[in-house]
Amino acid sequence: MLIANQGITVQKYGGSSLSSPEKICRVARKIAGLRSTGRPVVVVVSATGNTTSELVGRAKRVSSTPSRRELDMLLSSGERVSMALLAMAIQEEGREAISLTGPQSGIVTDSTHANATIREVRPDRVLRELDAGRVVIVAGYQGASPEGEVTTLGRGGSDTTAVALAGALEAEVCEIYSDVDGVYTADPRNVENVRHLSRVDSAVMTEYARRGAGVLHAPCLDLARREGIAVRAGATFGGDARTWISCGAELEYTGLDEGGSPRIAGVASRGRCIRVHATRGGARSRGAIVEALRRHNVVPESLRPDDDRVDVLIGTEEAPDAEGLLADIRRRLDGVAVVSDSLASVSVVASKHGDRDELADRVDDVLRRVGADTFSRHDRPLSITRSVAAEQRLPAILALHEALVESHAAVLAAR
Ligand code: ASP
Ligand code: MG
Repeated sequence: MLIANQGITVQKYGGSSLSSPEKICRVARKIAGLRSTGRPVVVVVSATGNTTSELVGRAKRVSSTPSRRELDMLLSSGERVSMALLAMAIQEEGREAISLTGPQSGIVTDSTHANATIREVRPDRVLRELDAGRVVIVAGYQGASPEGEVTTLGRGGSDTTAVALAGALEAEVCEIYSDVDGVYTADPRNVENVRHLSRVDSAVMTEYARRGAGVLHAPCLDLARREGIAVRAGATFGGDARTWISCGAELEYTGLDEGGSPRIAGVASRGRCIRVHATRGGARSRGAIVEALRRHNVVPESLRPDDDRVDVLIGTEEAPDAEGLLADIRRRLDGVAVVSDSLASVSVVASKHGDRDELADRVDDVLRRVGADTFSRHDRPLSITRSVAAEQRLPAILALHEALVESHAAVLAAR
């Protein structure tokens, strides 16, 4: 292979950047411009606009419990539409381009339909196409199991396709483009005075995404951390703001003087969680819970093999077949566990290992002050999480952000 190690650029474009023919053509011009500098380019695409959700809706209209295998066949088609349209638009710009599905690109996953994990990437075909001078467009969010079955990687999974390919192609950076210009201290749709992050460590960002940052697919960050790939998240059209995510990066808020080092990466939240709380049964019920979660690839990292006490919280976004998971858990754990699916979660994600107990106390103080009852506590080295009633979610997010991010940022800025 001639091309390997020649600084391959890997980019990923989200569905909102490809939601009209005009946008597809704009992205194609951007890629053609980059290609004209001589760089080999691989582009991963999501399904356009709301395609994936619309396809889920169509499945639900013909079946109340669609099979996960057939859902994968259906949903993987969304990214195929994008890849072919983008390849055509790049060809229209006078550049050679070819689109490839996940399986054609050598993305090998486990066999967990609807929430598969990438096991391996065999990039030979992609490298051959790059060698032939083509821009390679890859359908994100999908792969094939060792049995040759089409699988999907969970909602938002195209990010993970991009990072996995960047790793296999030995790219140092994976560029992720969407309609937002990176990562903020909270979701800007919920909170007014958010801070933009210019830099964040990949372990911290993994934690932030897992707790519900709402940007970037958590497994993609975990993979980037393990493979030592930097992720650059920015807006597709306009705006120079970017968030750099890399191993060991000191947290930086955009616009704050150097030297002020923020303690909180952000306030994250998940709108609907499944909580499984074993009330008795010890190791046996624990085994049954782990087995049910494993079948859906959602075993929380906090669940240790030697831990008898099980109290886990899983965001329904992590489990694309949340209803199936719930039914599974309820069937297996009748009488030994309390299972609920109506709670929300709020989390504060710390920038590094600090005094977790102190942070937990502050979080509890703030929640008490806004009258948000806490149902369960789930603390990790980098995050403090509380489950709360759905209607308390927004007031809790706002109060936590104000107390822990805005006031601290004001102190740093005044220095
Ligand atoms: N199209 C899939 C989804 O909407 C995957 C992705 O966009 O990354 O979840
Ligand atoms: Mg996404």
